Amino acid sequence: MLSYEYIKCTDLNLAFQELEEGKQVYPLAGGTDLIVGMRGGKFAAKTLLDIKDVPELKVLEENDRGITIGAAITLNDVVNFAPVRKNIPILAEGCHSVGSYSIRNRATIAGNICNASPAADTAAPLYALEAIINITGPGGERTVPVREFFTGPGKNALQKGELVRSIHIPAPYPEGKGVYLKASRTGSVDLASVGVAVQRWGDKVKVAVGAVAATPVRAHNVEKAINENGETNWAAAAKLSCDDISPITDIRCTRDYRFHLVEVLIRRGLEQTMGVK
Ligand SMILES: Cc1cc2nc3c(=O)[nH]c(=O)nc-3n(C[C@H](O)[C@H](O)[C@H](O)COP(=O)(O)OP(=O)(O)OC[C@H]3O[C@@H](n4cnc5c(N)ncnc54)[C@H](O)[C@@H]3O)c2cc1C
Repeated sequence: MLSYEYIKCTDLNLAFQELEEGKQVYPLAGGTDLIVGMRGGKFAAKTLLDIKDVPELKVLEENDRGITIGAAITLNDVVNFAPVRKNIPILAEGCHSVGSYSIRNRATIAGNICNASPAADTAAPLYALEAIINITGPGGERTVPVREFFTGPGKNALQKGELVRSIHIPAPYPEGKGVYLKASRTGSVDLASVGVAVQRWGDKVKVAVGAVAATPVRAHNVEKAINENGETNWAAAAKLSCDDISPITDIRCTRDYRFHLVEVLIRRGLEQTMGVK
């Protein structure tokens, strides 16, 4: 049986103190990665610091600078937040593709990115939206673009004592449709074998891919062909993704199949967002 100390925290400064001074203290949001990981021996937590009721982390708002999603906000709350559905539906799709309804009732976007799995379903949409991660810690506040937040499998840009405070999607929002396309073994309640986010921005596009490298990546070669060189053959553009990714073979699928999936999903994403040619 797991043995650990549980601290319910409602004060951000006390949270910093625990995280800075304690050994093997882990923030607990939804616990859907953390508890599973502890049971599997991935995390050797001695103390769980429950941050779900810290008021500063419960923000969910839209203002003229964009949409801010606090670290204690659940995925279901994001999916149901009208400004997300209206302005950045690709993020609602990414959140909705995580696990099951009951998982999404506990799990958070912050937990999804802090866990830093390259297959995290919210990551590709956040990359395509160029989200900003607001980090808070004993030294104050700082911001990191999401592409710099993921630093390797299971690794992120947080320093000791720091927490993700919120995730910010800056305005102006993209003009145009965005889609998140996920391939997985079972079709539901499974991590992505590959996840592809394609977001139209006017006559340009941003494409991000998960589960194909040590971190989620932008498909820069695909973007360059369309945005700078005027490529309108989506199949030809999607083929260029092979130079953007470096997939591995694992229990979910082979490296070769990942190359194939990425090309197919990017082509479909381009057809759905940029129009069928
Ligand atoms: C059955 C099942 C199905 C799943 N399916 C999917 C899926 O389809 N797609 C997918 O992407 N994921 C999936 N997951 C993984 C998981 O549900 C998500 O990654 C979820 O978003 C994690 O959020 P959480 O709030 O539960 O994080 P937690 O488990 O609470 O935390 C995860 C990690 O982040 C740290 N952390 C949490 N919040 C913060 C913070 N604010 N600041 C700093 N560190 C923090 C924790 O200490 C821990 O290390 C699944 C999990 C299960 C159990």
